[in-house]
Amino acid sequence: MSLKVYNSLTKKKETFKPIVRGKVKIYSCGPTVYNYIHIGNHRTFLMSDFLKRALKFNKFKVKHIMNITDIGHLSSDADAGEDKMVKAAMKEGKSVWDIARFYTKAFKNDLTDLNIETPNKFTLATENLRAQINMIKKLEKRDYTYSADGNIYFDTSKYSNNKLGGLNTKSKSRVKKDPNKKNRNDFILWFTKSKFQDQEMKWNSPWGYGYPGWHIECSAMANKFLGAPIDIHTGGEDLKHIHHNNEIAQSEAALDRKPWVNYWLHGAFLIDKNKGKMARSSGDFITLSKLKEAGFEPLDFRYLSLGTHYRKQMIFSKTAMTSAKNSRKKLYSSYLDLRSKTRGSLKASKNGEKYYTQFETAINDDLNLPTSLAITWKVINDKKIPDNEKIYLLLRFDEIFGFNLKNLKPDRIPFSIKQLAEKRLKARLKKDFKTADKIRKLIKAKGFELEDTIKSYILKKK
Ligand code: AMP
Ligand code: ZN
Repeated sequence: MSLKVYNSLTKKKETFKPIVRGKVKIYSCGPTVYNYIHIGNHRTFLMSDFLKRALKFNKFKVKHIMNITDIGHLSSDADAGEDKMVKAAMKEGKSVWDIARFYTKAFKNDLTDLNIETPNKFTLATENLRAQINMIKKLEKRDYTYSADGNIYFDTSKYSNNKLGGLNTKSKSRVKKDPNKKNRNDFILWFTKSKFQDQEMKWNSPWGYGYPGWHIECSAMANKFLGAPIDIHTGGEDLKHIHHNNEIAQSEAALDRKPWVNYWLHGAFLIDKNKGKMARSSGDFITLSKLKEAGFEPLDFRYLSLGTHYRKQMIFSKTAMTSAKNSRKKLYSSYLDLRSKTRGSLKASKNGEKYYTQFETAINDDLNLPTSLAITWKVINDKKIPDNEKIYLLLRFDEIFGFNLKNLKPDRIPFSIKQLAEKRLKARLKKDFKTADKIRKLIKAKGFELEDTIKSYILKKK
């Protein structure tokens, strides 16, 4: 069976074919580290994680690079606006370097909490100036650049790209915003003239003391750490039209106009049910820490993300989160119950094989995780499948879901709670339901749940 993915380049689902047999090179646009990462950003990082897992499930060897944008860039969709890193540094009374370090660490902690597999390498823009300068030099040598008022521009009249669509090639409004631009979609490769006089991050370059533009870091670092061409590039849908089209323009110009990326995968937004698109610029966004404060675990968000296909907008609400939390707990307890009951070697069944094939088909159909999750629940509830085969299937499926079920430990129940449960069982068997109810309430108040079986009970943490 082969993996199909929706390629933003061709706007079609296509069978994934790697450049080198059995190997995949992926580049993902990482975060700009000027603030905490919100759960919308994490939705996109989870998409790359599920994609990597799906590739590994299909026996590909994956090499994954993600950048950390620790140099500020000007606004989210054009070369205008404000430098977010500088603004954050001013607001927090710290240096831009401290801001970058602090939020990079917070980002990496979040990835660990979400069981997102660490990329083979995180590449920092500030640690790869040489690669960026060299790429601009290459573009300059091939006459794709011009200099205006101290800044170096990419000249889109020499190589224009709109392979991913969405670039407005007609209106002149962006030229008006920056009168130094020769063409509407030109963009800055190197700044020496910052509108921020107190810009701390600056480096020497052939064009003077300054700093790189927004787009060049991804092309330069992808090329440095993965070579070219590459198999897959990922990012959120907001990056597609400007950032990614510009990445393609400069990379292909530097590559003698050869294609640079074979498959582009874009994730749709997370939308807050009450507040609309989640964005850091709004100042009103939800982080993993906020979810924890509200009584959720990071993996509840992972579970929630499985429920919406990555190309569909995901609507976030507290109700949806609570439901994800309950379902994840149910998944864990179903798995633990099965594990406690199972011994011996795997017994395969026709039904089990059928579900395995259905699961594989769903995953390979452009990562259809909502369907694969539904199949998982069918497996759990199907009485015709032997328990040890259910365990086998759940562990295989978890290679995609990433809950680390294999290492799941049953909740530790304190001795005092076990004693209460025993006392209650005795009362129940004597039909003293008043005492039994009282003890059940007490157990519940202490954060545990009792489920009655015919002659015993199952005790769980709430
Ligand atoms: P940024 O640091 O702003 O470049 O964002 C990091 C990643 O998160 C990028 O791939 C963005 O496209 C993505 N992203 C930003 N906002 C959202 C959102 N509300 N939902 C999903 N992805 C998002
Ligand atoms: Zn990028």
